[in-house]
Amino acid sequence: MHYFEYKNGELFAEDIPVRKLVEEYDTPLYIYSAKTFKRHFEAFDSAFEGLKHLTCYSVKANSNLCVLKLLGKLGAGMDIVSGGELFRALKAGISPQKIVYSGVGKREHEIREALLADILMFNVESLEELEKINEVARDLNKKARISLRINPEVDPQTHPYISTGMEKNKFGLAREFALQGYKLAKELSHIEPIGIDCHIGSQLTSISPFLDALDKILDFYEELKKQDINIQYLDLGGGLGITYNQEEPPHPLEFGKALKEKLKGLDLTLILEPGRVIAGNAGILVTRVLYTKKTKKKNFIIVDAAMNDLIRPSLYGSYHKISPVVENKGEIITADIVGPICESGDFLAQDREIPAPTKDDLLAVFSAGAYGFTMSSQYNSRPRAAELLIDGDKVTVARRREVYLDLIALEDNCL
Ligand SMILES: *Cc1c(COP(=O)(O)O)cnc(C)c1O
Repeated sequence: MHYFEYKNGELFAEDIPVRKLVEEYDTPLYIYSAKTFKRHFEAFDSAFEGLKHLTCYSVKANSNLCVLKLLGKLGAGMDIVSGGELFRALKAGISPQKIVYSGVGKREHEIREALLADILMFNVESLEELEKINEVARDLNKKARISLRINPEVDPQTHPYISTGMEKNKFGLAREFALQGYKLAKELSHIEPIGIDCHIGSQLTSISPFLDALDKILDFYEELKKQDINIQYLDLGGGLGITYNQEEPPHPLEFGKALKEKLKGLDLTLILEPGRVIAGNAGILVTRVLYTKKTKKKNFIIVDAAMNDLIRPSLYGSYHKISPVVENKGEIITADIVGPICESGDFLAQDREIPAPTKDDLLAVFSAGAYGFTMSSQYNSRPRAAELLIDGDKVTVARRREVYLDLIALEDNCL
């Protein structure tokens, strides 16, 4: 569910015609719906009512400060994967006691910053990292609360690039190493093991891989209890999928119900790290048709948004629904919708059926709220798009459009 709807033949972002927003803010343009963010967060979070839990939104899905603030006000904690994301979360006013820090390659300064902020815990992914955190904590005379990230070796049945809980992936620790890790954690003077963590992948459209992973984690939890390791938090990561096209992912309620059954009677606080399911359908990318052309093989619709703005189609072959902003009753054609970048991999859609647009028409690329702007770049020296946050009839420029000077702002030694 989202608040991008057609009324009288044209697309609205909440109460505002998208066409109007483009008149003022130009294209390519990211538009987010505050009501949609709110609805998704509340639907997700309330699915775990009755369980002690903390919903830590995964900042990397959409890290705009306005978005983080909005979610923070609703009570969200944050799952971060870098010092930069910690900086953003703190700027957004998130309580450090609601911040967990994941990722395989935390640098020393990042660990120090997180310790100084006194975050809830680190999700640790190797024994060397554990020792590093202990050292940094010792220097600061602090105790680092940690979880170890377990690789539960389950197949999340999603795209290989976003599968993270299989044996061949770089993430987490296999059970044998994890046990060794907890024993080490217990001995290290400046480490306090308080949690157990996993994250098996992204865009999962069924709950069974989550439940398989949870079974393995709970089995390991029992083993830790025997070793006198006092686990209080169970972090099951993120990964719940959304509908881009025909997918039918489980509703958070179904997910919540299944977890409640498994966790019944256990004295654990559940942590969840949803990203895509909160942000994905809360944003669209609006682009303008520059040209259309026909080759012997194909129709091409050349638009002003490109892989630097939204890389998911190029990187994962992902599907995004694309529709005219103002309804168009023209003939349906099959076309590739491509950007101006000098790469054949630069496309937003391939062999897509769409009412034939003409020059200057606006197209909306749906489900662009997660891993859209955050994965964008300036490739081909294209200033990054603006981001708007709409709430009813109120517009906030959540990030202004970059200008040419932004492209060279850090190259002043070469001027
Ligand atoms: C990316 C990531 C998430 C969020 O995944 P979604 O599929 O967007 O929910 C959560 N936890 C960790 C550790 C991640 O790397």
